[in-house]
Amino acid sequence: MQAFEYANPATLQEAVAMLGSSWGEADILAGGTDLISLMKDYIHTPKRVVNIKGLKELQGITKTATGLRIGAVVTFDEVAESPLIRSEYPSIVQAVLGVASPQIRNMGTVGGDLCQRNRCWYFRQGFGTLGKDKDGTSLPPIGENRYHAIFPKGDAYFVSASSLGPPLIALGAKVKIAGPSGSREIPVEELFVVPTSNKGREVSLAPNEILTEILIPSARGVRNATYEVRHKQALDWPLATASVALRMKGSTVASAKIVLGHVGPTPVIATEAEALLAGKALTPDLAAEAGKVAVNGAKPLSGNEYKVQLTRVAVKRALMEAMKARA
Ligand SMILES: Cc1cc2nc3c(=O)[nH]c(=O)nc-3n(C[C@H](O)[C@H](O)[C@H](O)COP(=O)(O)OP(=O)(O)OC[C@H]3O[C@@H](n4cnc5c(N)ncnc54)[C@H](O)[C@@H]3O)c2cc1C
Repeated sequence: MQAFEYANPATLQEAVAMLGSSWGEADILAGGTDLISLMKDYIHTPKRVVNIKGLKELQGITKTATGLRIGAVVTFDEVAESPLIRSEYPSIVQAVLGVASPQIRNMGTVGGDLCQRNRCWYFRQGFGTLGKDKDGTSLPPIGENRYHAIFPKGDAYFVSASSLGPPLIALGAKVKIAGPSGSREIPVEELFVVPTSNKGREVSLAPNEILTEILIPSARGVRNATYEVRHKQALDWPLATASVALRMKGSTVASAKIVLGHVGPTPVIATEAEALLAGKALTPDLAAEAGKVAVNGAKPLSGNEYKVQLTRVAVKRALMEAMKARA
């Protein structure tokens, strides 16, 4: 690992001031479950590491007038154990419990989950965010791509790694971001971006910005669920995920949000499937139809066609799970 300066700021303002104005100057350290591996592999070689884990401003889960606030350094374990989250947001609890291993859930934070780097083998081997060769050739389409996107965008074939992204988007959550000129709030779907250069990032944060909290509207009356299809029950990311949030009018769906995870470089909003459900009673057949429609436009690579069927199944099962969930 390259030597670095370690900073332990006492306040959020101090932490922001310690970050650099370009990538590579400083890295934010939360639980370290992704950052430390990136540093050990020389993928990230920051001059300074800024620890945010002790910042009071970033801690705690609290009720707000409109829903819930989760501080960025809250761990997966704290989320899974929170009665406030368990009572209204089963889709979040299901996503968190899917994150493998008690150790990761104990150390990993919600802010770190949203900001973690992608898992593409080429990126992790030093070929840049988009996994390109020196001459600019994209490696995933011509190489190993079994875990890559079935909804690639531009030259981005990696998948967004975050398990929390899909349920937060389905629930209409926002994130609050602090920077040198104050703070701003954006919908979670605007946090995830498709990098256009091999040095670009997967999130829309500037190098000197910190994600400080997640703000989720109340989900009272919203049936929500996440269904992940995984290779195995330990130490791996899902192959395909669907998170759904349904507003019901009696026994029919008034409106639906369906968000697919781990199939594109950003979470994919399945708008066609959402429209299909509106105004209809949700039956297993309709849920299966929504799964089929959700993968319209998928462009699988040579080795990941199987993910199309997994995604159909994830959508169907998430919808059926939501119908069982307490609203
Ligand atoms: C074996 C294994 C299995 C895993 N399985 C899953 C899975 O199924 N689903 C899933 O979603 N994840 C999975 N993960 C990833 C894990 O969730 C992340 O490593 C973790 O959430 C990162 O949180 P952290 O606090 O440790 O972040 P860190 O490692 O400290 O940081 C991660 C990145 O985010 C940046 N960052 C951290 N916090 C902030 C912030 N508040 N503002 C701005 N930038 C920030 C850091 O600079 C760094 O680039 C797995 C990891 C491992 C090792």
